[in-house]
Amino acid sequence: MVSEFLRDPRPPAQAVRVTEIDDIPLREWTPHSQVRLTRTAVDLPAAPCIDIHNHLGRWLTDGDWMIHDVEALVAVMDARHVEAIVNLDGMWGDELDANIARYDLRHPGRFHTFCQVEWSRLSEPGGADALLRQIERSAQQGARGVKVWKDLGLHVRDESGAIVRPDDPRVVAVLTRAGELGLPVLIHTADPIAFFAPLDPDNERLDELRGAKDWWFGDRTRYATFDELLDAHAALVRACPGTDFIGAHMGCAAEDLDRVERLLEDAPNYHVDIAGRMAELGRQPRRFAQLVARHPDRVLFGTDIYPVTDEQYRLHYRFLESADESFEYAPGEPIPPQGRWAVSAAALPQELLPGLYRDNARRLLGV
Ligand SMILES: [Zn+2]
Repeated sequence: MVSEFLRDPRPPAQAVRVTEIDDIPLREWTPHSQVRLTRTAVDLPAAPCIDIHNHLGRWLTDGDWMIHDVEALVAVMDARHVEAIVNLDGMWGDELDANIARYDLRHPGRFHTFCQVEWSRLSEPGGADALLRQIERSAQQGARGVKVWKDLGLHVRDESGAIVRPDDPRVVAVLTRAGELGLPVLIHTADPIAFFAPLDPDNERLDELRGAKDWWFGDRTRYATFDELLDAHAALVRACPGTDFIGAHMGCAAEDLDRVERLLEDAPNYHVDIAGRMAELGRQPRRFAQLVARHPDRVLFGTDIYPVTDEQYRLHYRFLESADESFEYAPGEPIPPQGRWAVSAAALPQELLPGLYRDNARRLLGV
């Protein structure tokens, strides 16, 4: 047997030589956790859920529908007890009609399409009035809410060439009108704090910014600071007390839940969704659970995963309901895409789950 071993044509073990270790660039370092833990399967949510933050339209693609097979998506929703999905891609005009026809009308109650506001028209004379007419028209067409994207405060300019902040009086007028029309406003302001910080070795999202350099807003000659933008976000919410707001991505400040909580306490018309922030919330799961417990009627379920999958819904249920520790928030990605860390679950108490999953969203959507 020994001689047979010696005749084995395979090379010796694939050990990396020490000299090569010194040459491995950081981008090729993909450490695999050696923590051995049992995985809790949470295949269904404690209550049927509404995904308040998703993208089903043609706006984030090359012009094709995000979802090719709507029936297959409905099958995933049925299997995972997803009562409804909010589609934030309705835009305005004919595109809004097309989204409503494809989703809301084909599967009544399962999809709710939000419109957007064409803020670029603020660069034209009479643009502010045109936007009031536009949002009224979108409500007539059947929009169920309004999505405001982060370009407001970062890129949108008015006639004078100045960047329009979220608390600009013209924005306040349009979103006050949204409230009068019964439309909740889901708003995304700024971006992760690290995207506003210097691009240096201390930046906690360097991996991600290296792959998407236009997500970096740290140039102070061009962009406001994170805190200035979030202050404007809060001022907008306070200036429109008759409009229900949903601060996207955990109030756009998942790294600063004290800030989020201050606005929740200040403004009864303010709510937040958890979409796209498992990485952030999963590194402070006890603080997150504390916020939900203090504001059980103000936090909404959402994923911002598009196209969403069966696996992602189960991962979200596991994150909210189990007490699992140290797991991947983006399974299958060689490098965690939103921060090089693992997450731990929030273990939310059962009594908090129906509100977060469904009831708070139902109230805001009027269903
Ligand atoms: Zn989104």
